[in-house]
Amino acid sequence: MAYRVAISKVEKGDIEAAVRQAVSLAGGLEEIIKETSMVLIKPNLGKPSPPGSGVLTNAQVIEAVTKIVLELDPRSIIIGDGAIAGYDFPGSNTEEVFEASGTSEVARRLGVELRNLNRDTFEEVTIRQPNVMDKVRIARTALESDVIISVPVLKSHIRTHVTLSLKNMKGVMPGAEKRKSHQLGLDLAIVDLNSVVRPGYAVIDATVGMEGLWQYPQDMRGVGLVIAGRDALAVDIVGTSLMGIDPNQVMHLNYLAQKEGTTVDLEQIEIAGEPLHKHRQHFKTGFQAFEERFPGLHIIQGDSACSGCTNELVSAIIYMKEAGYGKGLEDLAVIIGSPSGPKVTGKVAVLGKCAKDFKDLGHYAAGCPPKEQDMISALCGACAADYKHVIATRDEARHKLWGSSSPLLKR
Ligand code: SF4
Repeated sequence: MAYRVAISKVEKGDIEAAVRQAVSLAGGLEEIIKETSMVLIKPNLGKPSPPGSGVLTNAQVIEAVTKIVLELDPRSIIIGDGAIAGYDFPGSNTEEVFEASGTSEVARRLGVELRNLNRDTFEEVTIRQPNVMDKVRIARTALESDVIISVPVLKSHIRTHVTLSLKNMKGVMPGAEKRKSHQLGLDLAIVDLNSVVRPGYAVIDATVGMEGLWQYPQDMRGVGLVIAGRDALAVDIVGTSLMGIDPNQVMHLNYLAQKEGTTVDLEQIEIAGEPLHKHRQHFKTGFQAFEERFPGLHIIQGDSACSGCTNELVSAIIYMKEAGYGKGLEDLAVIIGSPSGPKVTGKVAVLGKCAKDFKDLGHYAAGCPPKEQDMISALCGACAADYKHVIATRDEARHKLWGSSSPLLKR
């Protein structure tokens, strides 16, 4: 791949200096931003949280990136994002996120437009050679931009293991499509999305990050770094590694690398500035925190367990619970990945191609990853639950979201 990614340390609280250093070490923005460029700076401003909480991109990082772009004097600059699904309604909306995070103040001070992308006009775009989304609606602001700079915050994630600059692009879709992408298979949907709105540059706010289920403040992780680079995939591989998570287990990184004829290989990335090994952390993935939430549910993972299986498993477990089988999940053992010699008896579900050697230990769902309905079937088989009732509960939930035309009702 041979891309350069820079890591800079925040010294004496000077976040702007760290951002400037990281951007400069990574090769600067001069090559991609011209005087005719329309630039969108896309932070992660998902839900109302205070600055520096690790939930949102730190406003000081947004400010530093915006100042660097302003110095290049492009045709236009917009800072834009939309609150995540479930956080955009009266009393908790995108404008509130802008205010609470300090981004409104930054935009006012710098004289830059701050745009609520949830209120933008949306255009339907056809995706060529799609994985799961053949059409997607995208905020016109993003489609009209020549350069998108993705500025996420360093976080692990329950569905996709990590949420960094590639996943951050979900903010340019309307709420219904954001929800839909979860149901379609989030890792694959992220790759489809980035085929039409791929950031031209990425700056990860790793000043303070979040692990697990983001139960502020317990899950905050002070890291004190900024990561920057021109290739969002390479930047995300470095960000993932910094959290102590194996980037090969993050499926959207793998799917995108495959699509682009490359591999997820840290060794192929030139790292400038601070050495990665010196700062490597041990963030819990959201899935690990999820396991802690269900102490009676015993998930046995091999090293190869990736977000493909864990993502679908989270959905399947949620639908089982909604169908009234929360108690039935207790004492259930679920095998994913390829653990060495799992010792299990009683209720056992074995999920995915990686675990096929253990399929005789319980109810097996084949596939890589298995289809959600096959996972539900295996879990129901192991727990003696009514499969049809769980599927009906799932379909009812989807019907409420999208109506009877949803293609997912046929999955
Ligand atoms: S079966 Fe496929 S999706 Fe599941 S853990 Fe193995 S590689 Fe990942």
